Amino acid sequence: MNMFNYKALPINVHFGQGRAKETKNILKEYNFASVLIITTPEQEADGQKLAEQLGELCVGVYPKAVMHVPVEVAEQAILEADKLKVDCCLALGGGSTIGLAKAIALKTSIPIVAIPTTYAGSEMTTVYGLTENRLKTTGKDLKVLPKVVIYDPELTLTLPAKISACSGMNAMAHAVEALYAQDKNPIISLMALESIRSLKDALPIIVQDPHNIEAREKATYGAWLAGICLGSVGMAIHHKICHTLGGTYNLPHAEAHAISLAYSVHYNRNADIEAMTQLAQALGGTDHQQVGNLIYELNQKLNIPLALKDIGLPKEGPQTVAKIVCDSPYYNPRAYDYAELEQLMQRAYQGLPPN
Ligand code: NAD
Repeated sequence: MNMFNYKALPINVHFGQGRAKETKNILKEYNFASVLIITTPEQEADGQKLAEQLGELCVGVYPKAVMHVPVEVAEQAILEADKLKVDCCLALGGGSTIGLAKAIALKTSIPIVAIPTTYAGSEMTTVYGLTENRLKTTGKDLKVLPKVVIYDPELTLTLPAKISACSGMNAMAHAVEALYAQDKNPIISLMALESIRSLKDALPIIVQDPHNIEAREKATYGAWLAGICLGSVGMAIHHKICHTLGGTYNLPHAEAHAISLAYSVHYNRNADIEAMTQLAQALGGTDHQQVGNLIYELNQKLNIPLALKDIGLPKEGPQTVAKIVCDSPYYNPRAYDYAELEQLMQRAYQGLPPN
């Protein structure tokens, strides 16, 4: 076995159906007494319901989280938290909501309790993002890591089938890239494979029957493990492609991940054969050469849009993305080859199978 480093992040996790009902007691355990609930406008009613359960512990609901945390939104939220003398931000929602809580924590050190309702995984990472003049910058800081995360699969029952499928594949992408990360290690690889298997089994059921609680539980479990992968090891070509698709073309985050993953793993199929064989097996196949098509077929089964052109990538997108990715690359187990990457991005643009 090769040498490796492993560092666990300090987060307390409470997992299981109905656990959100324990939120008040959990907040009391940490002596939080002035809690601001953060949601998107769409999830405000859920925030109000939670506020009623928290009673005197809750000082308000702040329903203004939006995608990619614009600095103006963060600044307003920081003022509100200051005005209300908040001692804990409770993020109820997906990556956008947790992202706003992180922006507040970055400036104020107010601790975060997160109750994730998608599969994006931000709650398990020290990564924050802020957008100014359409430019998103990201950084890492332990201050933004939630102290406590409550995973209650019941809260994901309302997530529409299409968003569930894309969000689940977004999670799977974190686990997939952990398998061939520069700083990969055996513990994270175990979690990654368990995550991929769980998501591969659960997502097709959810798409057919979004109220299937067993499948929701399995997907939440897979997403939690994927979040740990994202928070623990570095990502590679796939995340670079998606950050470019989001940053340059503002494509929707989860869909961009879901579509691109098939092409990213196909590009790497011969780069780390042990990891890619494990990936193929976790997806129900046998051979590392199959990985791209296995993801593509899973996306088909999940009714995920297959073509980047269908989610807003313009015609010149494949060339530009391939160029940006090659000009400012992340670590990848295989060297960047512009011509091959551009050709793969063309296939992703059209929604053709990776080979
Ligand atoms: P999101 O948080 O934007 O949520 C998408 C929509 O679904 C929102 O309208 C939301 O209110 C709604 N929603 C969420 N849960 C719901 C539920 N259970 N029922 C009904 N509606 C629900 O989407 P996301 O994909 O979770 O997050 C994307 C953002 O998170 C991006 O900005 C991405 O960059 C960021 N992110 C950050 C990290 C990190 O480590 N910092 C990791 C992953 C994603």
